[in-house]
Amino acid sequence: MLRQPNYIYGPNTALVPARLNFGEYMLQQLKKFDNNTVLINAATEERISYSEILQQSMNFAISLTRMGVKKGDTIGLISENRFEFWGATIGAACAGAVVSPISVGYVKGELIHVLNISKPKYIICSPSLYKTHDKTIASMKFVKKVILFGDEKQNGTLSYNDMVIESNGVIKNVNYDEFRCVEVVGQIDPVFIMYSSGTTGLPKGVMITHLNILTLLCARSFADPSTVLISISPWYHAMGFVGCLNGFSNGLCFIYLPKFEIDLYLRTIEKFKVGQLTVVPSILVSICKHQTQKYDLSSVQFIMSGAAPLRKDTIAAVHEKFPNLVMVMQGYGATELTLGVLGFFPDSARHDKVGSVGVVVPNSVLKVADLETGKPLGPNQRGELCVKGELLMKGYLGRDRGDELDSEGFYRTGDIAYYDEDGYFFIVDRQKELIKYKGYQVPPAELEAVLLQHEGIRDAAVIGLEDKDAGELPLAFVVRLPGSNVTEKEVKDFVAERLSNPKHLRGGVRFVEEIPKTPSGKVMRTKLRKMLKNCTKSK
Ligand code: AMP
Repeated sequence: MLRQPNYIYGPNTALVPARLNFGEYMLQQLKKFDNNTVLINAATEERISYSEILQQSMNFAISLTRMGVKKGDTIGLISENRFEFWGATIGAACAGAVVSPISVGYVKGELIHVLNISKPKYIICSPSLYKTHDKTIASMKFVKKVILFGDEKQNGTLSYNDMVIESNGVIKNVNYDEFRCVEVVGQIDPVFIMYSSGTTGLPKGVMITHLNILTLLCARSFADPSTVLISISPWYHAMGFVGCLNGFSNGLCFIYLPKFEIDLYLRTIEKFKVGQLTVVPSILVSICKHQTQKYDLSSVQFIMSGAAPLRKDTIAAVHEKFPNLVMVMQGYGATELTLGVLGFFPDSARHDKVGSVGVVVPNSVLKVADLETGKPLGPNQRGELCVKGELLMKGYLGRDRGDELDSEGFYRTGDIAYYDEDGYFFIVDRQKELIKYKGYQVPPAELEAVLLQHEGIRDAAVIGLEDKDAGELPLAFVVRLPGSNVTEKEVKDFVAERLSNPKHLRGGVRFVEEIPKTPSGKVMRTKLRKMLKNCTKSK
């Protein structure tokens, strides 16, 4: 067989450890960076070191095992960004468990949906989110125990601190040299279950194996270890979750904000001389619109943007704000691809490729498939971006492999892209139904299911309305039932009561006679987009 000329290969340089055990690799890396600071909370200026996370992880793993956690048990993790998040994640993985981080923004129905996918036996929760979700969690019969971060205990829950802190008397500090993680089969065993709607439908459980995550962690670092990074991505999403683990395995120091607040963000950059920002495009848009003169932002050299398209005019405007900015680098990925399959690395980045999402990362292979024939295309031709390799998820939990893979086993991303003669990729459009609001996933199917519950609505379809600040805003086309005079405000409120903030109908509601559909009943979203353009033009 000859090498397929239109497959674009990343270098085969990610050498994963033979034992293929994420927990073991993480402990080894945490040990290596010892007393260095790993995280700083920008609001309180509290810090935590690598060795503290190491100790917490091992202690927590032992406590979990004593409690009865077995290899393959799933542990749900519902928490805002806080220090204990990482001892809990790494410790649970060391105990052989599968960790499933869950969005902190979810309202009841969304939480029930994802819990019913992963069916966690145990849940680790922050006290504030437990206040919101305690009844929902109690109604899930598969949940055996709840562990609350901090010292708090409430009727029948356990305290994380009791399980990790030696002075509490429940646990003795575990010695690194005597500790061994539970054995796993790294090629097949999942270590994380993340949530993503993929190209279509409702959120699904994405199974990330030990091999997936180790491939990512053992590839080249995306930042120089002496650089201080600031991250405001929520840690339940791949960008925050896998991004942080990648940073930890390379000895980086992250500053995090519990919540994005622009002045605190800029003040933090000045105070800690932050060298690299990790952002979603909407953050850059808000920085560009903000008065920044009073802050010294000269330490920032690199900006890494991902999760959604970044406009060229934003890239240009950002250079005005950071006097020593070397480059705005974009990466491209998806939850299904562990994190990213295209990116720039500071040491080899081509400055002339503005707007590109970079080159193929190690141990992955990409192709751009013709939209009609599926044939792999050559340079400068647009088609669907498809990905194969060791970063591709094991699959969706509880589902057979389906349309997400093509006949050659490539994951069909639903994104339209091309690559140039130098192998640099450009994302130009999205063919799939997914909407991205400020980098958050907004699956239209989820909104449509809610809209159809309204007693005055006969049919509905949701698309994204282009927006300079947020990327896209969810907008609904609604067909009223005869006799119904439901208003735009009522429809918006109805959705806002049932779905989390990014899914609110900020793009508005358009009442129509009919939703255009194919003979098989699929919503014709391209036609809806055209209808929208026409009515925007005629306004
Ligand atoms: P998620 O699984 O939430 O990370 O969403 C993955 C999707 O986000 C991709 O399939 C793209 O549609 C979009 N995406 C991620 N990174 C970029 C990027 N740099 N440019 C354009 N779209 C992106």
